[in-house]
Amino acid sequence: MTVNSGRTRVSQPTLPVLDGTWLRPGDPGYDRARRVWNGMHDRRPAHIVRCASVADVRRALRFAAGAGYEVTVRGGGHNVAGTAVADGTVMVDLSLLRGVEVDPAARTARAQGGCLLGDLDAATEPHGLVCPTGIISRTGLAGLALGGGYGWLSRRWGLTCDHVLSAQVVLADGSVVEATERDHHELLWALRGGGGNFGIVTRFTLRLRPAVPVHRRTGVYELASAEQALANYRAFAGELSADLHVAGALKVAGQYGGYETWLPERLRGRPALYLTAVWFGAPERAEAASEPLFAALPPAAASSGPIGYRQLQSGGDHERPDGNRYYTKTRYLADVPAPAAAEMVDSLAAMPSPLSSINFEYLRGAIADVPDQDSAFPGREAPFIHTVSAQWSRRAQDLENIAWTRRSVERLDPWSHTGAYVNYLVDERPDRVREVYGDARYRRLAAVKAAYDPGNALHHNQNIRPGQGNPE
Ligand SMILES: Cc1cc2nc3c(=O)[nH]c(=O)nc-3n(C[C@H](O)[C@H](O)[C@H](O)COP(=O)(O)OP(=O)(O)OC[C@H]3O[C@@H](n4cnc5c(N)ncnc54)[C@H](O)[C@@H]3O)c2cc1C
Repeated sequence: MTVNSGRTRVSQPTLPVLDGTWLRPGDPGYDRARRVWNGMHDRRPAHIVRCASVADVRRALRFAAGAGYEVTVRGGGHNVAGTAVADGTVMVDLSLLRGVEVDPAARTARAQGGCLLGDLDAATEPHGLVCPTGIISRTGLAGLALGGGYGWLSRRWGLTCDHVLSAQVVLADGSVVEATERDHHELLWALRGGGGNFGIVTRFTLRLRPAVPVHRRTGVYELASAEQALANYRAFAGELSADLHVAGALKVAGQYGGYETWLPERLRGRPALYLTAVWFGAPERAEAASEPLFAALPPAAASSGPIGYRQLQSGGDHERPDGNRYYTKTRYLADVPAPAAAEMVDSLAAMPSPLSSINFEYLRGAIADVPDQDSAFPGREAPFIHTVSAQWSRRAQDLENIAWTRRSVERLDPWSHTGAYVNYLVDERPDRVREVYGDARYRRLAAVKAAYDPGNALHHNQNIRPGQGNPE
């Protein structure tokens, strides 16, 4: 029997016996398993290998190589570019591998390659320990950590990739290695920010941090006062203590019923600026920490109080439901002066879908303190990140939402800082990945790629080409 792998017709070898499940088009569960978070990516792999063991991952890779299939890797399925799924390929699906073991004495966790962020938090928090990750609990740990990993705690402790102590990796040839500071040191360096280019991570060993009380304070500003509030935010950002993280979002207020019960009716459904200050530390100092920001211009509505860590970590889940259509563009910004703030506010006024948002955050803190040579992650010094996230539900609305996203991010070009966050890249020109990493870092990554995946079997990602440019 022959099958069409997309490019070549190849003989169909016998499917290996798995610990998990093998799914082909038409099998029960196939349609569910091929779905990813972003409903834009309605793709049909030839095979979905739902791995239940490291041996399954090896079997899947060997099968794909033998049968001439391209491979995609699915962690949490949350990448906006949809790189976890492609037509006619073998999808190595890690979503059954979600175990986490915590060693409280060593302050480490061993998390399997298909974990979601919520799995990690649920295992570590009862021990009074946490690992800095992202802000939506259903995001995959692997994709997030391999590309960097920003979140509420990153100004305090650094990125998720800075917490990767070691990783068990199945290489493209099916062999298994443990990348540590001692063995496969260059591979470990590359896994800290270089994305899913080098192998399939089946287990991370992560450094944990002590959990401290959390306090969240949100101020909502009407559009008319948004530019002034943004000016205050810019002035306040440089003064921030590392224990405080303030995230901004321009969006339509109160879009999701049942949430933000404190929001007055008159603000609901109207464009607004949200500033959310999250304080980690002594509860009695929480209000004072963000007071200069909110006292400078009192918001039209506010909510403030202590919050559990896991509640914080899943607090935005309802705003990004699975299956809607999404498109994102991102930039780092050197600064957000008044004309830049005015551009953002104008973009909000022109937003075609009420589900979309324009997000920005002041970064630095511990992110910038980690020595640059410790990881492949680029852009530690960037002051701000700006992300335009369009969300809508009907295919007929694709073009206007994509055009709005692109236009909105381009408006901030005069204030852009070099690079971009690799985990938010979508639909970029071919040389963008090299540009994001910078020439020297890209060459080093390319050398690691040449050593561990010389045939570029893992290329459904923000691709580093093997050996291109050669190491110095
Ligand atoms: C709603 C939402 C919220 C987000 N919030 C944040 C945030 O707060 N902070 C932040 O930094 N980022 C955030 N992101 C971006 C996120 O980090 C990336 O989308 C990331 O790729 C998601 O990982 P995943 O495992 O879910 O991805 P998937 O879509 O499953 O995979 C994406 C790519 O990651 C690689 N990959 C995944 N698993 C493995 C593995 N085990 N081994 C090797 N390669 C693998 C593969 O190359 C794959 O193509 C968010 C994304 C979404 C959609």
